[in-house]
Amino acid sequence: AKFPNVDITRPRFLQLIFVDINGVPKGLEIPIERYEEAVEDGIAFDGSSIPGFQGIEDSDLIFKADPSTYAEVPWEGIARVYGYIYKDGKPYGADPRGVLRRTLKRLEKEGFKAYIGPEPEFYLFKKNGTWELHIPDSGGYFDLVTLDKARELRREIALYMPSFGLVPEALHHEVGKAQHEIDFRYDEALKTADNLVSFKYLVKAIAEMRGLHATFMPKPLYGFPGNGMHLHISLWRNGENAFAGGDGLSETAIHFIAGILKHAKALAAVTNPTVNSYKRLVPGYEAPVYISWGYRNRSTLVRIPAFQNSGARIEYRCPDPSANPYLAIAAVLMAGLDGIKRKLEPDAYVEGNVYNMTEEERNRRGIETLPGSLGEALEELKKDRIVRDALGEAYRNFIAYKENEWSEYVTYLESEGLPVKTKKVTEWELERYFYI
Ligand code: GLU
Ligand code: MG
Ligand code: MG
Repeated sequence: AKFPNVDITRPRFLQLIFVDINGVPKGLEIPIERYEEAVEDGIAFDGSSIPGFQGIEDSDLIFKADPSTYAEVPWEGIARVYGYIYKDGKPYGADPRGVLRRTLKRLEKEGFKAYIGPEPEFYLFKKNGTWELHIPDSGGYFDLVTLDKARELRREIALYMPSFGLVPEALHHEVGKAQHEIDFRYDEALKTADNLVSFKYLVKAIAEMRGLHATFMPKPLYGFPGNGMHLHISLWRNGENAFAGGDGLSETAIHFIAGILKHAKALAAVTNPTVNSYKRLVPGYEAPVYISWGYRNRSTLVRIPAFQNSGARIEYRCPDPSANPYLAIAAVLMAGLDGIKRKLEPDAYVEGNVYNMTEEERNRRGIETLPGSLGEALEELKKDRIVRDALGEAYRNFIAYKENEWSEYVTYLESEGLPVKTKKVTEWELERYFYI
């Protein structure tokens, strides 16, 4: 045993985990004996140095554990729990998990419950002087065995997932060399956001144990496919899928799609919140560029997968794994709800490959383009009341934090003499996002 005279067969420490404005888990550890106190009264902490929790007036915060999220970390002999943050007895406005909880209440008032299934993708790197792709792995999409050197690692991750309440559903090699995807079962929106936090932690931890590094940065390598985090979304009402309609989608689903398309530019600031996110949103890599929708069509921003009845859902292909899952899910749901409330109708769906359309044809069909940079996306967010409101009190902190991020990048580009529109992945991005 690592600790003599101590029984470590049961967890002795508990990590209290919340996420910062970037969705990065943060927390402090307490002896397990204080668990009850953490649930009942909460544990005080100083939040002044947490990214996006700015202002020393916010420094005295209380973390209250949510016991439904309790899990043990098998390889560390500790436990961890998620929770909500309070300040002066009230929910703390900039707590992303609290933001999503409030959003879901608004959805509930309209009679809906949201279920979400994510498809997070990641790359594996190994250290070889510098970080290099984990090769020999020259595998591509769905390759098995000899071309896929990471298959055991994927399985190991999947075997640990149930410890955190995740149900693995499909594991596969992705299109990029050393790129992978593990899908887990859809769940209620809040649970799925929690699951995404757990998933990224788990993947990185297991990779690290095997001497590798898993990165969720949206576009680690120029010229290679990016990492997406597609969201499969359905709204339910009275225990029934409100997106199901005969052999297709209901009116509700169509309005929801219209809402997403209408707010897509502002949504990007939240679902694709890093400088690097916009290096992924380029033609040729199955990532969306144009604001359109279609059936089975992987070139569109919103895709309708071939499932009906209780499986009816839409797939939103814009989000990437650098998003704060709580804020991203809150924003997407409020955009869709706006479409439902205002009974918005989308433009006609597209059948062909949108990437191959001429600009003229796109214009004729009213197909607009997603923001080309974080800077552009932030301008859109500022103009969009619905998406801003979805972030609640976190909006102010979010925009301040992100505008600063963007201006640091622009300063870097200027100092290097690089054009602002460059789609190449810069050193600045690798330094800032490789470990997210
Ligand atoms: N990697 C692609 C993206 O950036 C998605 C590939 C797929 O359809 O799974 O979104
Ligand atoms: Mg994929
Ligand atoms: Mg997908």
